Amino acid sequence: MTSHITAPAQPAADLRPLVSVISPCYNESAACRLFLVELCKTLDSLTDFRFEILIVDDGSNDDTVDRLVAYAADDPRLRIIALSRNYGHQAALSAGLDQASGAAAILLDSDLQHPPTLIPRLLESWEAGSDIVSAVRVHTAQASIFKNATSRTFYRVFNMLSDTPIVSGAADFVLLSRPAYVALRSLPERHRFLRGMISWIGFKRAYVEYEASARVAGNSKYTTAKMIRLAVTAALSFSSMPLRLAGRFGIACSLLGFVYLAYIIGRWAIYGDLVPGWASTIGICLLLSGTQLIFIGIIGHYMSLMFDEAKGRPVYLLRDATRSGRSAAMCVRPPQSNGARLD
Ligand code: UDP
Ligand code: MG
Repeated sequence: MTSHITAPAQPAADLRPLVSVISPCYNESAACRLFLVELCKTLDSLTDFRFEILIVDDGSNDDTVDRLVAYAADDPRLRIIALSRNYGHQAALSAGLDQASGAAAILLDSDLQHPPTLIPRLLESWEAGSDIVSAVRVHTAQASIFKNATSRTFYRVFNMLSDTPIVSGAADFVLLSRPAYVALRSLPERHRFLRGMISWIGFKRAYVEYEASARVAGNSKYTTAKMIRLAVTAALSFSSMPLRLAGRFGIACSLLGFVYLAYIIGRWAIYGDLVPGWASTIGICLLLSGTQLIFIGIIGHYMSLMFDEAKGRPVYLLRDATRSGRSAAMCVRPPQSNGARLD
């Protein structure tokens, strides 16, 4: 007997890759609508991909969330993640990355200073095999002399201090493949400087240049205090140089002490014109303070090792090429937890 029962027709599965677009919003009531309009215009033109738009509200105290929730009712791609208070730009981006489920994630600001029209080029580079595609700002319209100067100085000083170099102008407008952002999620540190962390994880990287326009509406939410805090976090979490400085000063001080004592003893032997008490006091001061600084430097070294342990970063990350040419991330954690595959 033949059965006439047929399975209900299944809707054809959408096989286009899903891309997560993540944008933080803090008191962006004036800019968020314009931003979403421009973003959706670009995304609608990219018919080879599916998108989820994750907007992270970073504890806004204006009506940003209400506006975003109203827009989300009209667009199923839009998801609003509201943080309980203002945690800062870097934490908001991290919250978005934690919620992402795309084959790639794109981070960009919600004031149109990061032009959504650059997204097709980021995706192109990703499809060509890059895991991390950073947008590099070559010029910012209407940026103040102060902001340009502090930004340039920051990149220069950071690269002098740190073993993890970052490219000047490559801020937080970036595409990350899933293996790369999953690897990034495995870095548990609380004080986050994403630019440095993205450089630290490695992976295949490409750069795309762009000109940043002026903010579309509202004022910058990065106050000078917030900028200083980020710079300090960056310098301290990517360099142990400040801890080691005391040791270097100590060595210099001790050498100076030795040279000075040798000179004094030589003078005394040749000319015998020593002021009693003075030379030995200065020489001993230099030697003793030098020795103290050297020991502080040694303590600094221990502290920098402890600091690295406390950050709990994976010992290494593997980049494992698959048949598709895309990489897979594997993270090997310190012995207390078993090695975990991340993707
Ligand atoms: N932002 C945030 N939390 C903050 C400060 C800023 O989520 O505490 C967001 C802000 O809404 C914007 C992005 O981070 O989307 C960059 O901030 P902003 O444009 O004010 O910084 P600037 O471009 O002036 O450096
Ligand atoms: Mg901005």
